[in-house]
Amino acid sequence: MATPGLAPARIHTARVVKMNRLSHDIMQVFLRCQGEETPRFYAGQYIDILLPEGEKRSFSFATAPHERELIELQIRLIPGGKFTTHVFNEMKVGDTLRFEGPLGSFFLREDSDKPIIFVAGATGFAPVKSMIEHAIHRGLKRGMYLYWGVRSLRDLYLPDLPREWERRLPNFKFVPVLSEPRPEDNWTGRTGLVHEAILQDFPDLSAHQIYACGSAGMVHAARPAFMAHGLSEYDCFSDAFRLAPQLASEETEMVRLGGSA
Ligand SMILES: Cc1cc2nc3c(=O)[nH]c(=O)nc-3n(C[C@H](O)[C@H](O)[C@H](O)COP(=O)(O)OP(=O)(O)OC[C@H]3O[C@@H](n4cnc5c(N)ncnc54)[C@H](O)[C@@H]3O)c2cc1C
Repeated sequence: MATPGLAPARIHTARVVKMNRLSHDIMQVFLRCQGEETPRFYAGQYIDILLPEGEKRSFSFATAPHERELIELQIRLIPGGKFTTHVFNEMKVGDTLRFEGPLGSFFLREDSDKPIIFVAGATGFAPVKSMIEHAIHRGLKRGMYLYWGVRSLRDLYLPDLPREWERRLPNFKFVPVLSEPRPEDNWTGRTGLVHEAILQDFPDLSAHQIYACGSAGMVHAARPAFMAHGLSEYDCFSDAFRLAPQLASEETEMVRLGGSA
């Protein structure tokens, strides 16, 4: 996919320099490119990890573009998944990976003053984190709302970070939404589908921009619902975490991709 204003995607080699288990199924992985700086990218873009057999697996930059030293990825374990199982069971600091990037046209547009609603489903938080940290770095004064939809409390894998943004930034608000809270969560916050929580809070979206990222199910449900509530198609940006092409079918995407869908 073309990347306006940036160098075209290239193949890079990177070393794994740090790994943190953030939750029961999320691994935070930091990569350092070998022999070069991190390639320039837009906040919200992704890379394709190249597997030895010629297959590719997509993961979003979780770091903002101004962070030139390391690339952060937030990788969710897919039961039975070839690459993510490797990440959780075998990959270690010092390993090298090849990736292609940057890729994708889901990135923060800075030519608007409209308040932004970020919608993250599960690890859709990764590109949204990149965008929000970029917006903070650039000193954007636009209103920013983050709705992060997950199943239960244990899936909110970096809850302190958006709470910290909320403390620091008068123009930022964080709303976590659980679709299936467990009894032990003692959850008194918002529940249900993340896009429905947004529609309750913003019945008229005509003065907003929305960036939505997560499962295909979430994105496909949210987009038309937002438009039906006045959101202009020019203010609606979304990216769906589809399966690797050889595995994808519309049905498995809709049913199995996780997040809050
Ligand atoms: C643009 C883009 C950005 C992405 N960014 C991220 C990210 O930042 N973090 C992240 O964790 N994921 C992200 N994903 C999803 C990620 O690419 C897949 O989860 C990953 O490729 C799975 O690889 P695997 O080899 O472990 O599974 P595979 O071996 O490819 O699949 C094993 C089985 O799991 C199913 N499966 C595969 N992926 C998923 C899935 N996501 N959900 C449910 N079932 C699945 C397959 O149908 C298959 O049956 C992104 C996807 C896209 C398209």
